[in-house]
Amino acid sequence: MTTNVDPLELEKFNQLAHRWWDPTSEFKPLHEINPLRLEHIDRLAGLQGKNVLDVGCGGGILAESMAARGALVTGIDLAEKPLGVARLHLLESGRQVDYRMVSVEQLALEAPHSFDVVTCMEMLEHVPDPGSTVGACAALVRPGGHVFFATLNRNIKSYAFAIIGAEYLLKLLPRGTHDYSKFIKPSELATMCRAAALNVEDITGMTYNPFTKTYALGGDTDVNYIVHAAKT
Ligand code: SAH
Repeated sequence: MTTNVDPLELEKFNQLAHRWWDPTSEFKPLHEINPLRLEHIDRLAGLQGKNVLDVGCGGGILAESMAARGALVTGIDLAEKPLGVARLHLLESGRQVDYRMVSVEQLALEAPHSFDVVTCMEMLEHVPDPGSTVGACAALVRPGGHVFFATLNRNIKSYAFAIIGAEYLLKLLPRGTHDYSKFIKPSELATMCRAAALNVEDITGMTYNPFTKTYALGGDTDVNYIVHAAKT
């Protein structure tokens, strides 16, 4: 029901889906950043007992970890295989997450204002119209609720780190994972938020140190960053 989807992007994730929970696979970076982003979201929004929607949940790394913190989590994605892997993984982990194949725009029509927290991480840079995704996330959160977006900044340094470094030199991600032209500057994401009546409360950077092979959150938003916004 949505045109805001790139079938080639979904195909990339369908192809790799069976390796989603292998922490040494193409999804290693998501496994490694997950504790950091989970802690950040929990600290700012308080997950225990909250109704949470994870948009573009993929195989469910973030969704499951939020459920483990006591949230009632719904995960949505438009790629079938990652969703299948996510559902299977619940059998192994014993967690509960409601996984659905529905677009965020469609869910916004069905269930507006139904979530305390909406997360949309590492997904905006894979959709044709990120503003539409931001608008739908804003429609899904209740007034006073929290929305989190994580994506890649667009500048010479993010090109060097996220494409040349991650895909070609360090081979952390398969070549072609990211398209530089779809990267989003924090100012652009902030404009999309304001257009959707979301108030940007915080922008936190995420950095990778190739020598220690560790990630950290901090003030450097040049490459990866997380926006925390509140519904006004
Ligand atoms: N958010 C997860 C997965 C990130 S990978 C995490 O951070 O751990 C990007 C995900 O976005 C993939 O699962 C892909 O299928 C999904 N995706 C891409 N385009 C989408 C769209 N238009 N609608 C919903 N999901 C989409």
